[in-house]
Amino acid sequence: MNQHKKKINHFLPVSISEIKNPDLNQLDIVLITGDAYIDHPSFGTAVIGRVLEDSGFSVGIISMPDWKNPESVNIFGRPRLFFGITGGAIDSMLAKYTALKRYRSDNPYAPAGKGSKPERAVIVYCNLIKQMYKDIPIVLGGIEASMRRIAHYDFWDDKVRRSIIEDSRADILVYGMGEKQIIEIAHRIDTGKDLKNIPGTVIMSKEIPDNSMMLPSEEDASKSRKIFIELYRKFYTNQLKILTQQCGNRYLVHYPPAEMNSMELDKIYDLPFTYLPHPLYREKIPAYEMIKDSITSHRGCFSGCSFCSLSLHQGKKIISRSAESVTRDVQKLAQNKTFKGHITDIGGPSANMYGFSCAKKWKCGRESCLFPSLCKNLQSGTGKWIDLLKKASSVKGIKKVSIGSGIRYDLFMIDKKSRKHLETLIRSHISGQLKIAPESTSKRVLRAMRKTPLFRLDEFIKLFKALTKKAGKEQYLIPYIMTCHPGEAGNDIIKIKQDVVSLFGFIPEQVQMFIPLPMTLSSVIYYSGEDPLTGEKFPSAKKTEERGKQHKNFLLKTSRKNRSANEL
Ligand code: SF4
Repeated sequence: MNQHKKKINHFLPVSISEIKNPDLNQLDIVLITGDAYIDHPSFGTAVIGRVLEDSGFSVGIISMPDWKNPESVNIFGRPRLFFGITGGAIDSMLAKYTALKRYRSDNPYAPAGKGSKPERAVIVYCNLIKQMYKDIPIVLGGIEASMRRIAHYDFWDDKVRRSIIEDSRADILVYGMGEKQIIEIAHRIDTGKDLKNIPGTVIMSKEIPDNSMMLPSEEDASKSRKIFIELYRKFYTNQLKILTQQCGNRYLVHYPPAEMNSMELDKIYDLPFTYLPHPLYREKIPAYEMIKDSITSHRGCFSGCSFCSLSLHQGKKIISRSAESVTRDVQKLAQNKTFKGHITDIGGPSANMYGFSCAKKWKCGRESCLFPSLCKNLQSGTGKWIDLLKKASSVKGIKKVSIGSGIRYDLFMIDKKSRKHLETLIRSHISGQLKIAPESTSKRVLRAMRKTPLFRLDEFIKLFKALTKKAGKEQYLIPYIMTCHPGEAGNDIIKIKQDVVSLFGFIPEQVQMFIPLPMTLSSVIYYSGEDPLTGEKFPSAKKTEERGKQHKNFLLKTSRKNRSANEL
């Protein structure tokens, strides 16, 4: 291992001239990302770079390389151990195309929101490396690799594609949050050991591992919808086992997810991030501007909504940071000269899941702790999160702590205590709007989404209005609605629209059109017409014109006048 010198609050190098150690003539690891390098724990490349650095490895970062020029991945020369590749914070196909498959010109992860990455960025970057170095190990990570780790339906090609580890010819794929995996991989490569049996990874092998469960072959799954459904069902319900799939004359081996606990998460947030984009960028980066005054309190989501990548990427287990660790971040933010005293968010994928735990230590086969009903093993409640918000508000220099991300509203309706917490939230931690995600009002669509709420939405809206009035505030509920999800057919959208207007008093302006994201349950329902877990059949709008029409029908006649009905 190269000699590592502890450094505090500097950026990881993006060029040879930025390598601080003059005795270092070769980096251990080079990370390549499709996004700008933002040295903040909300961005995966910075986190992976920092944990590797903390483990004694020297790391350099190449951000947004020119994909037409192999020399662009050669800024640091050949690393001693491996190249780590990520497409960036979102899948490169999703980044490049809209839900109607039109070209997207903006890129929030690049300076000035401009600058693009190639389609299928992970594969393209790997090809660049292979052109420069035939035999260097390549490690894949990030959302694009994670959510394409086994054969999956690809919306943009409209077909089942094989695992990205095969297309990229990488040596190992890290799925989920990759901190533990990457350290293990670095040590194994450094000591000449093999890459078998690392939790949270996928490899290609010539042998079938012992004690593994065999999935239908990649070839069969790509030819038959029925077999693809069977592949997905087996994969989805057995993720805690070692899974194997035949791919030509080799085998894809999928190891169970990596485990992490709160102490380990705290340790990551104590690493010496600068909390800034690299000074190389002259213009603002929209994704950074959005999160710079917010704090992540936990990982994971136990909703198990079928259209979302989260439970297959981060997992349903909630890993919460300690209140002390979050408070340290609040204090750091308060000392920042550009900070104006308003924390715009403290949360995670669903903000109010902070502090929840499971009596069975999250070891079970259910895809959701809330669907079709609340699991009795789900413990704690929204109290820990509300306490966290109160604690953050009391730190010197903090004027306001509000919640910018969406909440799971029905968790506030479980018992009297939770309703009390909602009152505190409404009184002290909303900045004009509270976002909730009913997504639809159609029972069939909600069944396909696995999103039947635990309590009626109209009851929640009534309570929100009453508590807002009591607090003497003017605040609104903003619903996230999704159109074109499987289950929505014919005139369903007209009825959904009527329901939304009657519940909220207006048609929200930001309505998302469903995109079947790789490896999600909804993508399989969209492709096959069948829920692989229940066998229920669901219709889907597939033609671009049909999808466009459905979406437009929801938005038609949006009137600002209608908003007055929701005023309190
Ligand atoms: S036992 Fe219940 S609370 Fe625990 S993971 Fe399973 S569904 Fe969720």
